[in-house]
Amino acid sequence: MIDFNRPAFVGQELEYIKDAVHRGMLCGDGEYTKKCSAWMQERFQVNHVMLTTSCTHALEMAAYLADIRPGDEVIMPSYTFVSTADAFVLRGATIVFTDIRPDTMNMDEQLIEQAVTSKTKAIVPVHYAGVACEMDSIMRLAGKYGLKVIEDAAQGVDAFYKGKALGTIGDFGCYSFHETKNYTMGEGGALLFQKEEYLEKAEVLREKGTDRSKFFRGQVDKYRWVDYGSSYLPSELNAAYLFAQLEACDKINKKRMEIYEYYHRNLAVLAEEGRIEQPFVPGECIHNAHMYYIKVRDMEVRTRLIAYLRKKGICSVFHYVPLHSAPAGRRFGRFSGEDVYTTKESERLLRLPMFYNLEMEDVKQIVDAIVAFDEF
Ligand SMILES: *Cc1c(COP(=O)(O)O)cnc(C)c1O
Repeated sequence: MIDFNRPAFVGQELEYIKDAVHRGMLCGDGEYTKKCSAWMQERFQVNHVMLTTSCTHALEMAAYLADIRPGDEVIMPSYTFVSTADAFVLRGATIVFTDIRPDTMNMDEQLIEQAVTSKTKAIVPVHYAGVACEMDSIMRLAGKYGLKVIEDAAQGVDAFYKGKALGTIGDFGCYSFHETKNYTMGEGGALLFQKEEYLEKAEVLREKGTDRSKFFRGQVDKYRWVDYGSSYLPSELNAAYLFAQLEACDKINKKRMEIYEYYHRNLAVLAEEGRIEQPFVPGECIHNAHMYYIKVRDMEVRTRLIAYLRKKGICSVFHYVPLHSAPAGRRFGRFSGEDVYTTKESERLLRLPMFYNLEMEDVKQIVDAIVAFDEF
C-alpha cells in the first residue's frame, strides 16, 4: 500500500532528542526551542518567532493578541481547516466566510471588501497548498479599514510571496509542524510577528499568564501571575526533532519538489485532453510543494477514482468539506455573497501521496495508474 502521508524523517532527529535528554531539561524554551526560533528568524526574516504546541494554538494566540472580542467579525475562506475558524470562535467572534478563487483555491481577494462591515476586525488569509494569497491586495484592504491580518500559513512554511516568507507579511503568521506538514515535530507550530508591541503580551500569554520569560532573562527577581494566559510552549523533545528537520529543510524541499514536478509533468497529458485540471501557481509565488492535487469533473468521478486507486494499493484523499456547510460553521458563521466555487471545487479536488520518504518508483506507479484510468 502506498500511504498518503508519512511524517518526514531525515536521520539526525534521534541524535538531537538524545542530546536534549542529556541536557536535563525537557520542558519548553530550552536549547532546541531557541535554535528553532533563531533559525526561522534568520531564514524568514522575521523579528519574533515563538514555538507553540500546534498551529491551532498559534492561531488562538494571534486571535487573543489581535484583541478579537465577542461580536467582532473575522473574514476567512470557507475552504479551510476547522482550526482557522475555531481560534476566533473561542474569542466569541462571528466568522464571515468568503468564496475562493478556483485557480489557487485561496480566498478571492476581490470579494473581501464586500464582506467588510462596521464589526469587522480581521482578515485571515489561508495559503492553501503553500501557494500565497494575493497579499498586496489583502494588506491594502486591511490598511484601508484598519483591520488586522492573521496569516494561516500552516501549509506555507518556506514558501514566499514577492520574496517575503509566508507568515511574515500580516500582523501575525501561524505555522504548523504537525506530522502531515512539510517539516514536523509530531504536533507543533509557531507564531510569527514583526512588531515589538506584541512581544510582552505574547510571552505572558504563552507562559500561563506569568512573566516567567522576563524572570529567565533576569529582568525581574521573581515571576508572578500578571495577566490571562495559557500553556502554549512545546517540550524540548519535540523541538529537537524539529531542529533536525529545519536543518535539512533544503533537502526535504528538494525531494518534495521532485515529486511535485514529476506529477505535474506526467499528468499534463490528461490536462491537455481536458480530463483533469492541475494546480496553478501565480508568478509572484514560490510554493513549497506542500501538496499535489488534481481536479476531476465532479464528486462522482472523484469517488470512483479514489476507489480505483485504492484497489491498486494507492491511498489518495479529498480535502476540506467547506466550513460554512458544517453544523458549527452554520452556528458560528455566515457566508458572504454567493458560493460559486467553494463547494463545487472542493468536491472535485483529489490529493495524491506526497511526503519526503516517498519513493520515486511509487510516484511513477501512481501516475501510471491515473493515466490508465478510463472513467474520467
Ligand atoms: C494543518 C492546518 C492547521 C492546523 O495545524 P495544527 O498544527 O494541527 O494545529 C490549521 N490550518 C491549516 C490551513 C492547516 O493546514
